[in-house]
Amino acid sequence: MDKLSVKDYDLKGKKVFMRADFNVPFDENRNITDDTRIKAALPTINYILGQGAKLILASHLGRPKGEATDSLRMDPVAKRLEELLDGKKVVKLNDCIGEEVKERVGKQADDEVILLENLRFHPEEKKNDEAFAKELAGLAEVFVNDAFGTSHRAHASVVGIAKYLPALAGFLLEKEIDFLGKAVTNPEKPYVSILGGAKVSDKIGVIENLLDKVDSILIGGGMAYTFLKAQGIEIGNSILEVDKLDLARSILTKAEEKGVGIILPLDHVIADKIDKDANIKITDGVVIEAGWMGVDIGPKSIEAFKECLSKAKLIVWNGPVGIFEIEPFAKGTNEIANYIATLDAVTVIGGGDTASAINQLNLADKMTHISTGGGASLEFLEGKELPGIAALTLK
Ligand code: AMP
Repeated sequence: MDKLSVKDYDLKGKKVFMRADFNVPFDENRNITDDTRIKAALPTINYILGQGAKLILASHLGRPKGEATDSLRMDPVAKRLEELLDGKKVVKLNDCIGEEVKERVGKQADDEVILLENLRFHPEEKKNDEAFAKELAGLAEVFVNDAFGTSHRAHASVVGIAKYLPALAGFLLEKEIDFLGKAVTNPEKPYVSILGGAKVSDKIGVIENLLDKVDSILIGGGMAYTFLKAQGIEIGNSILEVDKLDLARSILTKAEEKGVGIILPLDHVIADKIDKDANIKITDGVVIEAGWMGVDIGPKSIEAFKECLSKAKLIVWNGPVGIFEIEPFAKGTNEIANYIATLDAVTVIGGGDTASAINQLNLADKMTHISTGGGASLEFLEGKELPGIAALTLK
């Protein structure tokens, strides 16, 4: 990486502003239901504290409409973070800018970590407002970005602030760049990508970029039906993007020209509605009869996918191959996950739904890398430079 990392900078005695991704899920009583994102920031937090720096943490949480919203305050995050930090007090402030914040930060004791209030209570955060970014920067002497999941957004605490302070990558960010970077630059071969999820339109950029890098693309999930339809195959009521049929055809042609194998489902689990109590059948072949919709890949497809994956040295997976949230439609996604967990290949899982599927199956530690950013990992795999990474200080 050509950007400065926390390891490259003398942090002793410095005040450090760290942008983290503490956007954790809650139940109806405001209990954190999954603290993975808080835990994921600990290596960088502990390193910075270990260097004898004073740490100010900031994150967004949920989607406030640019104003203070009590149900989206950072207090539960502060509480959980304090439990996870050895002997440090976490002082949560009620805003992220302003006189009171400045004053409290000025009095920060050695055994205190300060957590600022939800950055998105200010609309200026998402607008990358210069004055707002400057105020955030004014709280510290060094900026650390460890929020990979937000690094595809040019927001004030991710991009704007980097103009005013030395801007360093945290360990989580570095790890993401390292593993996802391996899939983009000089990937190990054979390189097989599994793409699924609801729509072709969300993954066009990724497919086009992958065509120059991979040996094979396995396409499942809702997006497969647009590709099948583009070849004249009947898909019943399956999800279809009519306006992407031409694009699907051109992707198939390009793949052929470049010698990239595109493997589409050979059979399907079909249902008469999207519901766990739906009537379900498995098709013999690729055709789906009228009145039914494809909700998962079938057994022959699973075997074909496995056969291709068995030879891979690098596997990148983004998007479930069926409606895995509904148990009877989850077999394809689960079997592929279980299978790649047994392989020697480097396995990189795009964030979002695919990461949830892997976590539900307790397979996280069997994968080489699970990205913490859904949208960010997709943009990275599209070959785009993420604004939050671009903004960091060069070595
Ligand atoms: P994405 O966020 O694009 O990765 O899409 C994930 C979503 O795709 C999940 O919520 C799945 O339920 C959905 N999905 C997967 N397979 C299908 C399918 N055959 N039909 C409709 N939606 C699907």
